[in-house]
Amino acid sequence: MRCPDCESERLHKNGVRQLQSGESVQYYHCLDCSKRFNERAGTPMHRMQTSTQAIATVLRARG
Ligand SMILES: [Zn+2]
Repeated sequence: MRCPDCESERLHKNGVRQLQSGESVQYYHCLDCSKRFNERAGTPMHRMQTSTQAIATVLRARG
C-alpha cells in the first residue's frame, strides 16, 4: 500500500469503516504528506470514471 499522492509507504492506519454494502475499508494517513485516504485510493477501480452501477458490477464479478 502506498500513498496515492506522494507514493510514500510510510502510512499510519487510520481506522476501518464499514460501508453500507457490509464491506470494510481500511483508512490510512500518510506520514509524509499528511493526506488521508482509504485502501481503494489509487487503484484502477478508483481511477476509472465509471458509474456506481458499473462499480457494483465489478464487485460482483470479483466475488
Ligand atoms: Zn503521501
